[in-house]
Amino acid sequence: MNVSGLPPYDDANVFARILRGDIPSRRVHEDEFALAFHDINPLTPVHVLVIPKGAFVSAADFHAAASDAQIAGFWRAVARVARDLGLEDTGYRILSNMGPDAGQEVPHFHVHLFGGRPVGKMVPRA
Ligand code: 5GP
Repeated sequence: MNVSGLPPYDDANVFARILRGDIPSRRVHEDEFALAFHDINPLTPVHVLVIPKGAFVSAADFHAAASDAQIAGFWRAVARVARDLGLEDTGYRILSNMGPDAGQEVPHFHVHLFGGRPVGKMVPRA
């Protein structure tokens, strides 16, 4: 389903290849619904990506096309990863880029978990 202003799902995208194990990643969690791994270019002391296991290009696609079980399982995994990484006491930011205005680079839905230091306020003013 294309609900994102993005092209249809491309099996060759880098996160699809990470999911298949075709390219390596530093994994921190995996379950039926989600895979979490360290970002290759971390912006904070903890910068982890969490991706669903299905073929969803974006946040819009995921929340329109995934089953309730996939959606619940994914978000439970996000919260669990944050807890397991010890981010709950100090706090963290969840961020997901959706489409061109957000600069989404990888067309497989993902959320970033940023933590390990204060991460500032929201987004820069224009
Ligand atoms: P986006 O802009 O799509 O929200 O973010 C994509 C993220 O994926 C970027 O933070 C980038 O550093 C990360 N990334 C891109 N390629 C790879 C890779 O091959 N491995 C890992 N671990 N992260 C990647």
